[in-house]
Amino acid sequence: MKLATFTESQRTRVGIVVGDGIVDLSREAPELPTEMVALLEAGPEALEAARAAADGAETLALSDVKLESPVLRPPKILAVGLNYADHVAESGMETPKLPLIFNKQSTSVTGPTDPFHMPRVSTALDYEGELGVVIGRRCRHVPRDRAAEVIAGYTVVNDVSVRDWQLRTPTWTMGKSFDTHNPMGPWIATADEVGDPHALDLKTWVNGELRQSTNTKQLIFDCFELVEHLSTAFTLEPGDVIATGTSSGVGIAMKPPKLLQVGDVVKIAIDGVGEIENTVIEEPAETTQIG
Ligand code: ZN
Repeated sequence: MKLATFTESQRTRVGIVVGDGIVDLSREAPELPTEMVALLEAGPEALEAARAAADGAETLALSDVKLESPVLRPPKILAVGLNYADHVAESGMETPKLPLIFNKQSTSVTGPTDPFHMPRVSTALDYEGELGVVIGRRCRHVPRDRAAEVIAGYTVVNDVSVRDWQLRTPTWTMGKSFDTHNPMGPWIATADEVGDPHALDLKTWVNGELRQSTNTKQLIFDCFELVEHLSTAFTLEPGDVIATGTSSGVGIAMKPPKLLQVGDVVKIAIDGVGEIENTVIEEPAETTQIG
């Protein structure tokens, strides 16, 4: 099942994508929450009710709605650095002995077709195509062999990075968290639909040129190990997103580097999950907001 958040007639709510249409759950199952985190929090019974309501239901054409980030405001976005061996090599770094975890702020989220910003303060803008894990259940101290039980599904993430801001201090938080720098979607492909999350082809193109091509079997710390590791320290909650890391082929590692320019179009596709496509625009003047 593909769980999406969409806007139509100025109203944003959750739906289930079926082919090139979307079932409006607010109409077919009005008793269910209309917001994704609340729907996930409602548990497996609610998701089963959603699935049943969508079966044979009328759909809106996908071309008539706007898909949003499936989780509009994840409680947490956790990301992993240097989690593909070929990316470690191109970075000239050592292979981490433990997952190298950093946060992206929830305000960095934007939708699967929304533009993202060339910041006013930098031109060192880069892409990172990644598999995103979406947590479905509140959990803590989850052993690896039970991690699948707490995963709602998978999505596509662009871990947009501002390289000079990322690398000029020991922690990466600032350079990884500019507004709009977490394009995500186009939906949550539920775990049962995806099957083995460690056998998925993942590709990134810039203006149609293939830049990254990998398979999630190359992950150093896989999705289940990441859930185990993260939940050792803190509670994972429905709607939390884990961006599992990127492969080789990021712009800064190319010789010469090919960082993003205004107007560039970045497309990321993961087999069995979906694809997102986002264009770089100048950071608009109206982002300044004081009081
Ligand atoms: Zn990344």
